Amino acid sequence: MKAKGSTVNWKPIKKFPNTWTVKPNLLDYDKTYATFSWEEVRRELDGLPGGKGLNIAHEAIDRHATGPRRDHLAIRWLSREGSVLDFTYGDLREQSNRFANVLRGLGVGKGDRVFVLAGRIPSLYIAALGSLKNTSVFCPLFSAFGPEPVFQRLSRGDAKVLVTTERLYRQKVADMRERLPQLQHVLLVDIDEDIDPGTWSLPKRLKEAATEFTIPPTDPEDMALLHFTSGTTGMPKGAIHVHEAVLTHYVTGKYVLDFHPEDIFWCTADPGWVTGTSYGIIAPLVHGITNLIDEADFDATRWYRILEEQRVTVWYTAPTAIRRLMRLEIEPRRQYDLSHLRLIHSVGEPLNPEAVVWGEQVLGLPIHDNWWQTETGGIMIANFPSMEIRPGSMGRPLPGIEAAIVRRVNEDKDEVEVVKEPNVEGELALKPGWPSMFRGYLHEEKRYQKCFVGGWYLTGDLARRDEDGYFWFVGRADDIIKTSGHMVGPFEVESVLMEHPAVAEAAVIGKPEPLIGELVKAFVSLKPGIEPSEKLRLELLGFARSRLGSAVAPKEIEFQANLPRTRSGKIMRRLLKARELGLPEGDISALETSE
Ligand code: AMP
Repeated sequence: MKAKGSTVNWKPIKKFPNTWTVKPNLLDYDKTYATFSWEEVRRELDGLPGGKGLNIAHEAIDRHATGPRRDHLAIRWLSREGSVLDFTYGDLREQSNRFANVLRGLGVGKGDRVFVLAGRIPSLYIAALGSLKNTSVFCPLFSAFGPEPVFQRLSRGDAKVLVTTERLYRQKVADMRERLPQLQHVLLVDIDEDIDPGTWSLPKRLKEAATEFTIPPTDPEDMALLHFTSGTTGMPKGAIHVHEAVLTHYVTGKYVLDFHPEDIFWCTADPGWVTGTSYGIIAPLVHGITNLIDEADFDATRWYRILEEQRVTVWYTAPTAIRRLMRLEIEPRRQYDLSHLRLIHSVGEPLNPEAVVWGEQVLGLPIHDNWWQTETGGIMIANFPSMEIRPGSMGRPLPGIEAAIVRRVNEDKDEVEVVKEPNVEGELALKPGWPSMFRGYLHEEKRYQKCFVGGWYLTGDLARRDEDGYFWFVGRADDIIKTSGHMVGPFEVESVLMEHPAVAEAAVIGKPEPLIGELVKAFVSLKPGIEPSEKLRLELLGFARSRLGSAVAPKEIEFQANLPRTRSGKIMRRLLKARELGLPEGDISALETSE
């Protein structure tokens, strides 16, 4: 299919300005791409002493803490209320050692899953790094999840340890503890005394723990991170990442985010989502730079103040936030000194060309879009600082990554063909084998295998590639919803709605919304004898919100007596969406005719 629209509606934006005192790490994209080797990247990292393997936490902390960067500021944490807490690399080493010793003391070891359910508080970062040191697996959970998504992830991920706050524990976990037999230890970050055997005070244990810890031998293929992501047909899947992923974190920090030793980096993503871990924790620390963490949520004035006061040099944020800033009637450069900023990056959903240009005009810097997903573990396609930006494009593949547009030859056959002609829409595919590629979906081997067809990893995104190798996002190939940058699987939402006694069936779609990308909308059919009413609609909205949490719950609910379904009984979300948007209904030959 020929792509609609031209690729060059917007004037390209020139490369990095001549005024830069630091030159980009990647100056010649084509040359670097042609000569790149992952073995060389590996040589730029340290490896565990004595050739005992590769461990993310060693690369992120210990190698700096035992060298000249020991006293360099590693993490500056800004509390919601305005206080500041600083951690040098030396401090982080000691704290993560203590946490690793706490785990060891509890009999938690290699491969055991350590979940963290918390906002952006220091304990989250210490727990992440300490778990990696202990060769346990760090699994972050977004604190705005309701009890149901939390339960699904803890049980599907075989959580052995949960680090959380007393409030979140009582609100979201305590009631279902009995249904989580594998969950042996809950470590509460804000109580001084243990509650019962199995519900411990983390501060107490940390105080008693030793400050020295030797990282055990770590195979680069050992599981390190587990990130849950949403699917269309089932419950969330746990994408497995291994210690070797640190090569991608490192190289994208170098070439895409363009880290230099004195940088102050701010990634606004929450570690509950993959960006907040790969780039909100690992990549900046692997580079030994200063990583800024803000506990509070989006607030335009606060954000501009942080950029100014903290002298942020590299900023990694998301389209939803950028669109919010764009709506405001403020001229940030008049009110704030943003002169320290050198680079702005964005990820998570399509970045409109208007936003790229707004960045240049209003913030004084264009916004560099990049693309990746939970499964890829790190940035795969990017607008590199030394390349001209084509507003609206995601950029070009990272050196070491082969990306293509493919077409399925035949739905039933295990084959795809690479689309050679430029500007033709197809599925975005990557050649497997990069270090941060997911190594599986936990306990779901078949689902994993289905992602690989004809020697390619299929991303589930539709895109096109222009004559010069820039990739342009077109949309998702499936029903997954992107709301405020977060993936929501319709199945998970439908399942909760159907638990309500009045609901017979539910179908959930993403409805385009200018600010947050898509909003979650549910169509609901009611059980016989139950009449739709405004009261019931509000009740369902509240019911879904209390179970799923604000990040996942539907914002709109519409009653519909009969939901369109295929002859085989599958609800046709696509058709509901087309009708909602007034678009052509497409092929409806499979539609059940009684509808
Ligand atoms: P997640 O796994 O939650 O990080 O979501 C990954 C998905 O977000 C991708 O498969 C895309 O659909 C979307 N996405 C991420 N970055 C971009 C981008 N720069 N432009 C368009 N879509 C994006």
